[in-house]
Amino acid sequence: MRDWRVFPIRAIVAACLVLIAGGGAASAAEDPAPPTLRLPGDAAPTGYRVALTIDPDQKTFRGAVDIGVRLTRPTAVLWLHATDLTFENATVRSGGKSDAVRIVPGGADFAGFAFDRELPAGEIELHVDYTGAIDETSTQGVFRQKDGDAWYVYTQLETTDARRAFPCFDEPVYKTPWELTLTIPAGTSAVSNTPVVSESLAKGGRKVVRFGKTEPLPAYLIAFGVGPFDYVDAGRAGMKKTPIRIVVPKGKASRARYAAETSGPILAKLEDYFGMPFPFAKLDQLVIPQTVTFSAMENAGLVTWSESVLLAQPKDESIQWKRLQASINAHELAHQWFGDYVTLAWWDDVWLNESFATWLADRTIAEWQPSWGTAVERIVDRSNVMGDDTLVSARKIRQEIKSADDIANAFDSISYQKGGAVISMFEAWIGPAKFQAGVRRYMKAYAYGTGTSKEFLSAIEAESRPGVAAAFSTFLDQPGVPLLDVTLQCGAGGAKLSGGPRLALAQKRFLPVGSEGSSTETWQIPVCARAASGGGEASRACELLKETSGTMAAPGAASGACPSWVLANDGEVGYYRAVYRGDSLEKLLAVADNELTVPERVGLLRDIDALAAGGATSMGQALALAPRFANDPNRYIVQATIRIATDAGENVLPDALRPAYARYVSKTFGPRARALGFSGKPGEDEDTRLLRASLVPYVTKDGDEPELQAEAKRLALAWLADRSAVAAELVGGVLESAARHGDRALFDKYKEGIKTSKERRDRIRLFRALGAFDDPAILDDAFAFVMSPEFDSREAGNIIYASLDTPEGRAATWKYLQANYDSTVARMPREVTGFVPYYASGFCDEKHREEVAEFFAGRAEKLPGGQRNLAKVLESMDLCIALRGKQEGSLKEELARY
Ligand SMILES: [Zn+2]
Repeated sequence: MRDWRVFPIRAIVAACLVLIAGGGAASAAEDPAPPTLRLPGDAAPTGYRVALTIDPDQKTFRGAVDIGVRLTRPTAVLWLHATDLTFENATVRSGGKSDAVRIVPGGADFAGFAFDRELPAGEIELHVDYTGAIDETSTQGVFRQKDGDAWYVYTQLETTDARRAFPCFDEPVYKTPWELTLTIPAGTSAVSNTPVVSESLAKGGRKVVRFGKTEPLPAYLIAFGVGPFDYVDAGRAGMKKTPIRIVVPKGKASRARYAAETSGPILAKLEDYFGMPFPFAKLDQLVIPQTVTFSAMENAGLVTWSESVLLAQPKDESIQWKRLQASINAHELAHQWFGDYVTLAWWDDVWLNESFATWLADRTIAEWQPSWGTAVERIVDRSNVMGDDTLVSARKIRQEIKSADDIANAFDSISYQKGGAVISMFEAWIGPAKFQAGVRRYMKAYAYGTGTSKEFLSAIEAESRPGVAAAFSTFLDQPGVPLLDVTLQCGAGGAKLSGGPRLALAQKRFLPVGSEGSSTETWQIPVCARAASGGGEASRACELLKETSGTMAAPGAASGACPSWVLANDGEVGYYRAVYRGDSLEKLLAVADNELTVPERVGLLRDIDALAAGGATSMGQALALAPRFANDPNRYIVQATIRIATDAGENVLPDALRPAYARYVSKTFGPRARALGFSGKPGEDEDTRLLRASLVPYVTKDGDEPELQAEAKRLALAWLADRSAVAAELVGGVLESAARHGDRALFDKYKEGIKTSKERRDRIRLFRALGAFDDPAILDDAFAFVMSPEFDSREAGNIIYASLDTPEGRAATWKYLQANYDSTVARMPREVTGFVPYYASGFCDEKHREEVAEFFAGRAEKLPGGQRNLAKVLESMDLCIALRGKQEGSLKEELARY
């Protein structure tokens, strides 16, 4: 799947190393052409026996694989996936006879195994001896990393990198049992998907570790790790007392406390949902020192984790970190069912993995820790992804896979958060119990096999009602967010409508101003509304809106009374934005504090924000609403209000209005921020601490706040001298707040901190903070500093997370990228290069738009998934330019009051 043009030298070397085995003298001209993307489908594996010799101190490994294969038709050349493997010997056993096999070069992704004669349909066994590469920069395929003074080897085979570990059928539909044997240095240990069944000493200071046969698994879920690990026993959990361990680099066992405490309860909660035991023999949580494109990976029975997500010293166990870890843990363990037990048949159904794991993780955490506000987080995630989904360049949840780039692009917010939100909507519509019955039916029908969207939807429909699959599909197979236009009709002048009050509904795709998309899509939307009249009890009503317009009886219509308020998205779980006609929005806002839940109030505020940020309503008016909510006791309401302010105050704000915006921030949010301060007070609850962590850095950076800025600087310096000087949840906020108007002396201190810190987490915090300075000269030096070869590019690259927040940072990032493009891309792990267009994101003017488009012409297509990412970046700029044109007047008018 990788685009080798980015790494021409390596590709050429790999091609030259393919040896010809056996006596075949056929010229390349006679060789058949390799397949493209997918295998021909005329053969399938029945099982693998893989023996690998892995020494973490080495940059290559040796492999011997025996693959049982069923040929479905007479075959002269068997094609398998293989990347960067050097073949030494291959033989085939067929009909009791063993023959040599000639290797046919297959380009970057395939190898052909040519038989002396055409073999008949039936069972054969292919044996291949080979060597493979152990990568040091990328976290794809087989790779190694150093922690302390020791090297460790790990794997990451999803989506299409199993072919770097062994020649194989590297498509998810091929699920078979695997038997893995690893020969490793005697001073190390190894983990894989199944428990160790035997260990014996071998010559040369090695030992041989044999693992049990796996349940049927696709190649992408195979995993192993080798190194001088420490093991933390996390006990046994669930219906069959599944043993759980946290496997960490030597000396880091004390950092696994929280992981050991939470894994068992989460596993047990998931078993309850599925009504069955954990589907694999054991669960190991294996720590990788550093990953680049994933936080964790759901390999069956062996989840791999980025160290910063799974491990923390006690002082770094922040509230956000604990919640994030638990949520990712629930996600990866949900995958043990959605993905591992029942696997997607092909990558166009990535949502069957990612949407379900996202949805079920939220559901699990909400049940397990109700005080964590997961129900609100869900609404926030839904609203965020609806922002991504307004782009014409957004993917569909089920997107056709035409190339390897499409697979690279499939793991985006659409597959995770949009899919999760759409599942939540249909779960609420048909009822959680029926939805759960559908899930269980699907799991049972395709246990240890593969499933498709169609099969999943049939299972849900069988447990609920006809028409669900068709309605669900309208959200899977077309992109975009429906905009639901809602008019309450009660009859004019006291004349009552027959059938009682009703809601007139209309739908179209929500397209922001400047969008070139068309609104031709129509969804089948389960519209659920809630309403009440005259202070009475609220009632709920649902209707499936199938056409572009329709009506439904208003909730409580039977009473005949006109509702005094209507919420057109009950629970805010519907995947649509609502726009209210007449005075309905004002009436709703008036009762919101008493009648709506926190998730509903957040959803409502986010819709108000999105309509303004899409140019449908006035941004000035949205800003004017903020003071009303900025002091709400609930932190989520304050955060949704900050979002209204930042959507106006970031990219779209003309430079001339920045001083006025700073005064607006200080006036609106400053008193609360100053009262909270950067330092906690004894006895505070977690919500207060989390509000501080988001509100205070925002006001310090964007407001006109010399005192908070001085305090941030004082604390940043204190933290550099003593890591316990700032609460864990505030460290990033303090370092970035201090940097925003920081001087060169502070910059030098940060650089010193990076050079002397032994903790990766601290270095990453500092690299990120370097991007938060707003002095252009310091930013130029910051980029030159972080790109120095003395630093690990995987850590140093964190600078761009903060640099893209400010005009000065965006300009510096862009300037740096243009001058150092080739070296920057060359230093990156190959799997992140596709995201390079985002380095140029966030501009809101024609000149930069032209520059970026011109610069990436001829470059983006060489990055995996780069073209779609560039299209998103450019489209976002187009929309921002149009929005600025539309909103400049209203922003000026509102901010003039400050
Ligand atoms: Zn996932």
